[in-house]
Amino acid sequence: MAEIKLPEVELNIYTPRNPVEVKVVENRIVTSESSPNFVRHITFDISGTDLVDRVRIGQSLGVLPPGEDERGRPHKLRLYSIASPTKGEGGKKHLVSTTVKRTIDEYKEKIYLGVASNYLADLKPGDPVKVTGPSGRRFLLPENAEDFNYIFFATGTGIAPFRGMIQELFEDTGLEKECVLIFGCPYRTDLLYSDYFEEMDENYPNFHYLKCISREDRRPDGTKHYVQSKLEDEKELLRPILDQPNTLIYICGLKGMQEGIYKELIHQGYTGYVEIRKKLPDNVYSMESSSFRRAVKPSARTFEEVY
Ligand SMILES: Cc1cc2nc3c(=O)[nH]c(=O)nc-3n(C[C@H](O)[C@H](O)[C@H](O)COP(=O)(O)OP(=O)(O)OC[C@H]3O[C@@H](n4cnc5c(N)ncnc54)[C@H](O)[C@@H]3O)c2cc1C
Repeated sequence: MAEIKLPEVELNIYTPRNPVEVKVVENRIVTSESSPNFVRHITFDISGTDLVDRVRIGQSLGVLPPGEDERGRPHKLRLYSIASPTKGEGGKKHLVSTTVKRTIDEYKEKIYLGVASNYLADLKPGDPVKVTGPSGRRFLLPENAEDFNYIFFATGTGIAPFRGMIQELFEDTGLEKECVLIFGCPYRTDLLYSDYFEEMDENYPNFHYLKCISREDRRPDGTKHYVQSKLEDEKELLRPILDQPNTLIYICGLKGMQEGIYKELIHQGYTGYVEIRKKLPDNVYSMESSSFRRAVKPSARTFEEVY
């Protein structure tokens, strides 16, 4: 197997005490009109800041929303994954984009709007935003990116880094090995950047876009489609890739999604993608989440960013 050489990155050039102001240049909705969810593609102009040439795909930026929390303290920073390739949005190195979902919760009959996501979603081109970062040193493409096959698992806004990584792998690296994107969301209206991935799937025989629509479609046995179900349902495509020692797995999105993926990988005998720290029962599916999480960690070939 090729050595995985992760690039050196500079972290926290800007901190909450010393943030930098960038400007919004674009803020457009990317979910369908009929979707009950609102996800936006937001691009910042980072010209004149030390972020230029120092932000890599896979990293995140921190956003400092204005105002104070209920205790009168300045709002804490929230992280947002970069969705543009390392060379910048549209190849422009002064432009960096992200993918933001408005968060809304109801508790005791009151509606709570998430502070940072709704602040970002309301911004207009020209508006300033205080950012920190970059952050994240491991969820990166290797420097020798062309040496590997990739299986990307995403749910929701977890798609953000894969949009940039896929652009980078195909436009810059000229990837000849295999790349599979498995994206899960509840309804078709919540597919993100789907036109781009469909087009990539058509244009590149080594790129495969697999969608799992959990609340609309059913598998032949009546169960729901989750990202890990593709490991079973698309065996013909995935097994020959998973069998190769130079395949890397990346997981990004909802916290907890990694458990289903690791359980299915172990169930199928793919133990090279995980580090097993305690003896597992024959049926890994019988394990409670808490004990599974203690026993199974990602291996050097698996990268996870869940939140
Ligand atoms: C590494 C990393 C990368 C990330 N990347 C992305 C990304 O690319 N895109 C993205 O959209 N997000 C991303 N996130 C998540 C993001 O950082 C925020 O956590 C998210 O946007 C919610 O922040 P918020 O300020 O809007 O909500 P918060 O104000 O932090 O609130 C969180 C939730 O609690 C609810 N809430 C608030 N107050 C109450 C209350 N009193 N009672 C009950 N409920 C309440 C809110 O409605 C909301 O749903 C990432 C997180 C990490 C760690």
